[in-house]
Amino acid sequence: MIAVVGSLNLDLVVPVPQHPVPGETVLGGDIAQHPGGKGANQAVAAARLGGNVAFVGRVGEDDAAGVMLDAVREEGVDTAHITRTPDVATGRALIAVDPAGENTIIVSPGANARLDAADCEAAAGLLRKAAVTVLQQEVPDEANHAAARLAGGIVLYNPAPAVAGAVPPPHVDVLVPNRTELAALTGTPVPETIDDVVAAARKLTGAGAVIVTLGGDGVLLLEGASHLHIPAFTVRPVDTTAAGDSFCGALAVTLAEGRTLEQAARWACAAAAISTTRAGAQPSLARRDEVDAFLAG
Ligand code: ADP
Repeated sequence: MIAVVGSLNLDLVVPVPQHPVPGETVLGGDIAQHPGGKGANQAVAAARLGGNVAFVGRVGEDDAAGVMLDAVREEGVDTAHITRTPDVATGRALIAVDPAGENTIIVSPGANARLDAADCEAAAGLLRKAAVTVLQQEVPDEANHAAARLAGGIVLYNPAPAVAGAVPPPHVDVLVPNRTELAALTGTPVPETIDDVVAAARKLTGAGAVIVTLGGDGVLLLEGASHLHIPAFTVRPVDTTAAGDSFCGALAVTLAEGRTLEQAARWACAAAAISTTRAGAQPSLARRDEVDAFLAG
C-alpha cells in the first residue's frame, strides 16, 4: 500500500488577455475548475498506475471539499484519513493563463495548512504498514516530519513547490527535487549542466538517494558515491503540467512493488513522458496499460 500525505486543491483556471499589474483589473474568459494539488495529483497518478493508495489530508466543509473527495475516490484512493475541517476553506489555486500559455498562480492553502502531527499520528497504523509514504511541500513541515517518523516503509519526499524556509524531514529514503527545488534546498544557483546537478545533489546528505528530475533531459539518480543519468523518452510534449507529480506517483508504485531505484526511475520517466503529451494535470496522468504499451514500443 502507498500512503500519500499532502494537499488537495481545487484549481480555478481563467484565461486572460494579459496578466494584471498591481491595481489593475482585467476581464478574463470562462472559468474552469479542476481537481489538483500536488498530494491529490500524486495519489491519482499512483492509483491510475495500479497502486493501492490511501490519503492523509484535510479539506474544509465547503462544496470544493466534495469535489476533491469525489475526484480522488473515483480513482480508488482510500479517503478515510482525509479530515473535514470546520471554519476553513478547502485549498484552492487561482490560475490565470495568458495567450502565450504563461501562468500566474496564487495558492490559498486553506485546510491543507491545518494538517498537523496529530493527523499523522491518527493515521499511524496506515503509515507504519505503507510500503511507500509520499510527501510534498504543500502541507506544514510538522505533518511531513511526523509522517516520515511514523512511516514503516520507504519515505519518498518531493520538495515541491520550492518554499523558502521549508525543512525536509531529517531522514528521507528518496528525495525527488527538480532543478529549481534542488537549488532552493542547497542554496546554489539553478544547476545547468549534468555536472552542476551532480555537484548540487551531493550536498544533500540527509537522503538515502536523490533523483533530480530534469524535464526533457530525464533524471539524474544519485545513490551513495555513484550517479546515473537516465535520458527522457522522446515524445511531443503539449503540456508538462504535473509531469513531476506523474513521475513521483509512478516511482511510488514501482518502489512499492520492490523494483530497484534505477528500474523504478526508468518506468516513472515513461509514465511522466506520456503525461506531457496530454493537456491538464489529473486528466493527463497515464494508466498502467498505457505505460506498458509505450515501453513495449
Ligand atoms: P516538474 O514538473 O516537477 O518540474 P520535470 O519538468 O522535471 O518536473 O518533469 C518530470 C519528469 O517528466 C522528467 O524527469 C521526465 O522524465 C518527464 N518529462 C518532463 N518533460 C518532458 C519532456 N519534454 N519529454 C519527455 N519527458 C519529460
